[in-house]
Amino acid sequence: MKKIQMVDVVSQYDKHSHEISQRIFKVLKSGCYIKGKEVDNFEKKLSKYMGSKHTISCANGTDALQIALMSLNLSVGDEVIVPGFTFVSTVEAVCLLGLKPVFLDIHLDTFLLNENLIEQSISEKTRAIIPVHLFGQCCNMKIIKSIADKYNLFIIEDAAQSIGSSINEPNSMHKRFSGTIGDIGTTSFYPSKNLGCFGDGGAIFTDNDVLSEKMRLIANHGQKEKYTHEIVGLNSRLDALQACILSYKLSFLDECNEKRNMIAQYYNSALDSVSWLRKPVNSIHSNHIYHQYSILLDSTIIRDDFQKYLLENGIPSMIYYPIPLHKQKAYTKYSNTVLPVSEMVSHNIISLPIHPEMEMDQMEFICDKIQKYS
Ligand SMILES: *Cc1c(COP(=O)(O)O)cnc(C)c1O
Repeated sequence: MKKIQMVDVVSQYDKHSHEISQRIFKVLKSGCYIKGKEVDNFEKKLSKYMGSKHTISCANGTDALQIALMSLNLSVGDEVIVPGFTFVSTVEAVCLLGLKPVFLDIHLDTFLLNENLIEQSISEKTRAIIPVHLFGQCCNMKIIKSIADKYNLFIIEDAAQSIGSSINEPNSMHKRFSGTIGDIGTTSFYPSKNLGCFGDGGAIFTDNDVLSEKMRLIANHGQKEKYTHEIVGLNSRLDALQACILSYKLSFLDECNEKRNMIAQYYNSALDSVSWLRKPVNSIHSNHIYHQYSILLDSTIIRDDFQKYLLENGIPSMIYYPIPLHKQKAYTKYSNTVLPVSEMVSHNIISLPIHPEMEMDQMEFICDKIQKYS
């Protein structure tokens, strides 16, 4: 059996090394390394895939969130609703701009922002909601959208972990992808993401022409033409090497997401008999692309011991996320917030290896070892 990896970016590269090397070589010979044709082509390709009118590439997923927030003309002290259980980027962008994060709790079964808590936390300073489509499935966007419409709030979807997932709309003619439902959607191409490059990268989606234009300016020093700066901006660009790799990898993203789904189904059935863990629940509002396969251990299991046991058997695992954001040192200002589900989940969650390169014998081995743990 091949060594089990949490994420196997090297095996994926090996499988496609010939194609990728050729593309990289072409870019190297072109002399055009930042933005340019490769980046334009990738943005067009991604817009087409997503069904988004505009795609603006940028340097990473954290910048994507910051650029999105910067485009909305918010004022210092304005409030932005965020889940307490997510990767730090979501909140970093809010705080860096002097905005105030309002942390909300999550659903216990799906780990997603609990939309039922939104309305009661809206104040006259609330301007935006950032639903995070955590671990690969979408929040309840129908409800979130209706609340945003009612109170005139912006929605920025954090789709860093969910590229290629879509919401369930039984009567809809076409798929609506995560990241294209709110005013703005953002994603990340960090290597371990479902669509990952060989460095940093990110993108922003919108159907709004005005916001698109503004975000394009912000991401490139606030300039429309070289050396004329209309607004204060950032240097946040995708480079041509990453774009050529991403263009290629986008062509088999769906296939990779299906493979992840198949592995998750295998885990689901093999772990069905294990009474001391809770399998991840697929929301009825979304399909799932399993960026992570995260289980909840019940209180009889000591997580450290379980993780050590897995590791002794050559099985890596990760804790996403061990501390909810309102309990982090950087955000002590908000430590009085009470988010019982986020706190409990942080204490009991553990993510198992899942990636498109996993092999059947590895999956069998992992489940066998888990079944034998007591
Ligand atoms: C990875 C991630 C980001 C940030 O992406 P980077 O490209 O690493 O900056 C933002 N939000 C979530 C939920 C993420 O998982």
